[in-house]
Amino acid sequence: MTSQTTVKTLLILGASGDLTGRLLLPGLARLVAKGRAAGLRLVGAGSDPWTPEQWRERVRTAFAASAESADPDGLRALEDLEKETVYHQLDVTADGALAALLATFEGPTAVYFALPPRISQLACEALRPEQVPAGTRLVMEKPFGSNEESARSLNRTLVRLVPEDHIHRVDHFLGKATVLNILGLRFANNFLEPVWNRQHVEKVEIIFDEDLALEGRARYYDGAGALRDMIQSHLLQIMALMAMEPPSTISERDLRDAVSAVLRASRVGAPYAASTRRARYTSGTVAGKKVPDYAKEDGVDASRGTETLAQIQVGIDNWRWKGVPFILRSGKAIGAKRKEAVVTFRPVPHLPQGFTGVDAPNQLRIGFGPDTLQFDVDVNGPGEILSLSRLTLEAELSASELLPYGEVLEGVLAGDPLLSVRGDTAEDCWRIVEPVLRAWQQGTVPLEEYDAGSSGPAEWSGTAQAE
Ligand code: NDP
Repeated sequence: MTSQTTVKTLLILGASGDLTGRLLLPGLARLVAKGRAAGLRLVGAGSDPWTPEQWRERVRTAFAASAESADPDGLRALEDLEKETVYHQLDVTADGALAALLATFEGPTAVYFALPPRISQLACEALRPEQVPAGTRLVMEKPFGSNEESARSLNRTLVRLVPEDHIHRVDHFLGKATVLNILGLRFANNFLEPVWNRQHVEKVEIIFDEDLALEGRARYYDGAGALRDMIQSHLLQIMALMAMEPPSTISERDLRDAVSAVLRASRVGAPYAASTRRARYTSGTVAGKKVPDYAKEDGVDASRGTETLAQIQVGIDNWRWKGVPFILRSGKAIGAKRKEAVVTFRPVPHLPQGFTGVDAPNQLRIGFGPDTLQFDVDVNGPGEILSLSRLTLEAELSASELLPYGEVLEGVLAGDPLLSVRGDTAEDCWRIVEPVLRAWQQGTVPLEEYDAGSSGPAEWSGTAQAE
């Protein structure tokens, strides 16, 4: 399949950066090799005085894996893009510099800000609306602002330059396939939707526990922590997809309206010592590898009290979900990786007398990347027919042939903001977590400890409070 993109030029600002080399260019390569970005020109820009060959070499290296497995057409497309790509040295914060470069491109252009957040903001503030050619798309990375007020101010800066549907606030955690897998499961199965509410659901957990520790990323992570890094953005987005009302269509407006309605109704209730928890790992072993105490890692300022494991209980104040706890948790250096949403149903109102054995609540689990579905049900036997036992129905859900950043870029290049976080939602995600961040800063909630390689502090499991 060959598909022409709406965007003609992709300008990556931050050409020498980690995101560009490790995620963006490989994501683009797969897209190009699959014939899904025909006619695109790639331009790199950065503050380094690189020669065109240095940039081309970077592109070639990042394209290598896709080139190896590409068919002849795909390989030709990759080579063409690589041959024609150009590099510009540029201080994006200098008055008129980015504007002058934009004026030289065949548009529409997508400007990818793969820059430190502060520099992206300065670069946008340096642009005047008349310097931005019609049709330009602005692609902003996370974190989008550092609190509700700064997100609002950044939104104001951006909508002065381009319309809201030309702003792509990237959340690469949920690829398109995953979003559609959740929606397909929820809204194409009549046996699920009638029980997807407070009458039948006891709690919903959304968990992203990784075995990776700090991995040399102290400069970024020690200023962020698990709540800002994972929950404020990614896990709240998943929660919204799990909790939203059925949209009329899978179009950006209907879908993003539905996401926004959930987040507007969401809050973390006080007291925060009951509704939230935070912890930091101490030394231990993860998958056979020794991990040092987080507080002693290079670049970490232990007095900041940055958490490496966070859990918050969110309440959604609407007809469907009032009183149901949504527990969002994410941690680093956890022994057993988990990346899933778990819906626990209420027990049956009455189990006919005579049954024996397991009578545990049903659970439905959606695993992310690879996407899977597991449904725990109670069935009779084996052996004694009245003795109940637990059975798990399992299925693999559809996977994408693209890398997560390829899916992000495909949306940008096609001019489809479906997967982009809308401006109001970006502000609401900060509004939800800000009281928690304040309470943590004031020391209202103790910073607990757990050994690297464990599953977190032992007493954390099953801690949902009545909403
Ligand atoms: P890096 O620090 O690795 O790269 C930043 C890039 O910005 C460098 O190429 C740097 O060039 C360039 N730059 C800095 N100042 C200027 C300037 N004034 N003019 C032009 N270029 C400039 O950061 P990352 O790649 O890690 O992150 C980029 C963005 O992506 C951040 O917002 C981050 O939060 C986000 N992100 C990153 C992820 C990752 O895994 N890396 C994952 C998810 C999001 P030079 O070195 O020459 O100054």
